[in-house]
Amino acid sequence: MVSRVIPVEPFDLVIFGGTGDLARRKILPALFRRFCAGQMGPEARVIGAARSEMDTAAYRDFARSAILEFDDDTVCAEENLSGFLEQLHYVTLDARGETGWDALSALMVEGRIRAFYFSVGPGLFGDLAERLHSYGMADAESRIVVEKPFGRDLASARALNQGLAQHFDETQIYRIDHYLGKETVQNLMAIRFGNMLFEPLWNAQYVDHIQITVAEARGVGSRGGYYDKSGALRDMVQNHMMQLLCLIAMEPPAKFDPDAVRDEKLKVIRALDPVGADDVVRGQYEGTKERPGYRNQVENRDTHTESFVALRAHIGNWRWSGTPFYLRTGKRLKARASEIAVVLKEAPHSIFGTQAGHHANILTIRLQPNEGIELGVTIKEPGPGGMRLVDVPLDMTFAEALGPDTADFPDAYERLIMDVVRGDQTLFMRGDEVEAAWRWTDPIIEGWQNSSVAPILYASGSSGPDDALMLMHRDGRRWREIRA
Ligand code: NAD
Repeated sequence: MVSRVIPVEPFDLVIFGGTGDLARRKILPALFRRFCAGQMGPEARVIGAARSEMDTAAYRDFARSAILEFDDDTVCAEENLSGFLEQLHYVTLDARGETGWDALSALMVEGRIRAFYFSVGPGLFGDLAERLHSYGMADAESRIVVEKPFGRDLASARALNQGLAQHFDETQIYRIDHYLGKETVQNLMAIRFGNMLFEPLWNAQYVDHIQITVAEARGVGSRGGYYDKSGALRDMVQNHMMQLLCLIAMEPPAKFDPDAVRDEKLKVIRALDPVGADDVVRGQYEGTKERPGYRNQVENRDTHTESFVALRAHIGNWRWSGTPFYLRTGKRLKARASEIAVVLKEAPHSIFGTQAGHHANILTIRLQPNEGIELGVTIKEPGPGGMRLVDVPLDMTFAEALGPDTADFPDAYERLIMDVVRGDQTLFMRGDEVEAAWRWTDPIIEGWQNSSVAPILYASGSSGPDDALMLMHRDGRRWREIRA
């Protein structure tokens, strides 16, 4: 099966922070892959804009080495790289001053789709919006893309929203959460709303609980300075995991359109009960002989910032009343593995007797590695010996089911940037969603700030603190193994 690529209209994409790490590792390689796929046509232009003094030729060199480093498709690079680089431009510009803005404005072509990617810290969002407006670049056709972190609490997120809203309508603002751009995450919606099989079971009557795990094997590395101001709850739960929870829990939207989908997600966030102190565990990884512990990788050796968090959430509505959602995320865990597991209840009565054991169907949505969906079903173990039951996976790994061409589906940034150009906000967070998510996480953070209790230490390479295991054990449940 060959996937269809529909070219987008010609566009100008300005990357503020075009020389930064995100541009180098994600944005430029993603654009290049869309160019190779024939989706970004020859008239499109990408304009890097950042403080570094360089000209367009130097920026093309910068982009060339970024693409060669972060894109492993050498055939595509050999055939297309020079063509792509010709569509790149650069302007030296200061977001906080007047340098470079006239030059940028002079580059703009009337009547074209314009996207401004704010690949800079959130402290510059307001300045950029203000100058885009004052230099006449904020017209009805322009869109802005903003990265996480979108604030560090409700008050700062509100201030960011208000700053952007002064010059841009909500329909022009694309708040990126790259988890929503993942193929499997969108498949979650297809599985739920495109099939009759799952939706009738998708409620507290049949679902025992849901587990969402985002585990990283790496520690904070050289990003300790940034991470220590954030922590796992802000960095992962408030945004990525909250979005996953919403897609699992939301009611079917009337249409697959931006506001219909986001209205339903918002209702889920607003229905979340406050998290009690007993329902949340935070941890910090210890060092090993070879690798330093969390506290040795950040400036403040007494830091209480969590590198791990596990929590039990409840959604106070008819569909989910009584079904807990367990979330955990952390660094330096056993493996790099992210998944959502929808664990159904056991059959109410086993006709096979107690020897048949306990069996529950589990729908697993794997985000990494090996994106795919797996449904665990119980069957008879083949062969003689009576009715012995065994659980086997019905594996819906896309590459196997749909053919090798589909294994090469676009990565999240590719899809999301093309959605910006197409003007489709479905997979982007709306301002009220972000604020509602902070409204839910703020009290957890405040509770920690008002407490003198330090995070629990956990061994590098483990599944996190034992207390996180207890969070489920005391409910008679257990976490799934963290496996790569
Ligand atoms: P970075 O520090 O590597 O790059 C920052 C960029 O902003 C540079 O190009 C720099 O020249 C430019 N810049 C800084 N001050 C400027 C000013 N006054 N005027 C014009 N340009 C200015 O940062 P990054 O890692 O690329 O991250 C950018 C944003 O994306 C941050 O908000 C970060 O939190 C977010 N983010 C990054 C990643 C990632 O993987 N790097 C992932 C998710 C989100």
